[in-house]
Amino acid sequence: MTRLTSLIWVLLFAALIIFPSTATAAGGSGSNGLAWKMVWAWSTAGMSDADVVAQAKSLGFNVLEAQSPGIVRECHRQGIKAAGLIYFGSAPEGCAQVISPTEEATLRREEAALPPAYQYGGEPVRHGEVMIEGGLWCFDRPEALEFGKKEIDRVIAAGYDVIALDYIGYQNYHACFCPISTSRHEEYLKTHPGISRKAATDECSRDSLVSFYNALVAYAKSKKPQIVVTAHLYPCFIPDPIYGNRTSLDYCGQTVSWFFQPHWNLGRVRRYAHEVVARAGRYNPSCTGAPFIGIYTLKPYENDRKTPERVRDEIRIVKESGAKAIQFAELGNILNDPEIARVVREELNPPIGGH
Ligand SMILES: [Zn+2]
Repeated sequence: MTRLTSLIWVLLFAALIIFPSTATAAGGSGSNGLAWKMVWAWSTAGMSDADVVAQAKSLGFNVLEAQSPGIVRECHRQGIKAAGLIYFGSAPEGCAQVISPTEEATLRREEAALPPAYQYGGEPVRHGEVMIEGGLWCFDRPEALEFGKKEIDRVIAAGYDVIALDYIGYQNYHACFCPISTSRHEEYLKTHPGISRKAATDECSRDSLVSFYNALVAYAKSKKPQIVVTAHLYPCFIPDPIYGNRTSLDYCGQTVSWFFQPHWNLGRVRRYAHEVVARAGRYNPSCTGAPFIGIYTLKPYENDRKTPERVRDEIRIVKESGAKAIQFAELGNILNDPEIARVVREELNPPIGGH
């Protein structure tokens, strides 16, 4: 080894000791690769728009979904992006999803008494759970798309930077059984020989959701090319829980840690975060995966509160996955617990002089 080569090796070792790798630092306190940090807000009653925005901003968020007439102006005044909600959980009579008779019976039992560990639209713990909150649109119906387009027009006209879609999923977590959807399942079965009836229904139902998302994105971009479209995929789709990379959403929010007990083990959080981030561009290069973390601390869900340490672990897992985007719900519940708020603030705000 020449003297020059030896010197280069010494310098390289010195550099490694003095400047630890950014990969190691990713698990630390910086927000590193997270550029798009969105929070959903629905428990901020009594707070002024200025305070809601200031609090979201102080926690490190730069995109806020909140429903208030003055919120767009306030977001822009304080320099963050405003996301306008489009909610698909209020279909008119005749346009709502239909569930099977067995699922109807389950629903009636649940309405009488919620089963233990009921997950409110998240991945169920108990087999056969149906979401009590009904009235979701059937996404195979043309009326649903017409409704979505009118809502997009409204959100764009109100000056929002981002469209935030919610409740595009199935009440029974897998399919709609109205005559229109059922005939689509039958057609899918006929045109995919060798596939089981269940697989046909699952794939056809998933494709309905994806087509619906993509039709909304295409319409929104045709109306305003620079509009950003995001969603939290909800309720969960059991046959393929992380199907969101098939959509053309700009930022696809997919659950990596749900609100309620039993909290997901961190191995599962890590696996989901990796799937959401690493496979985001598989079908659409423009789709960025946004791992979604749910946090409740307010009544009646105070028993579902996560520890601040756990919240820190979850955020670090997301950062270590290489995520460029993240979604949280819910702002009022985070602010309600000063320790959790502190952890979120520390993890989402880049250090001074950091990335
Ligand atoms: Zn239907």
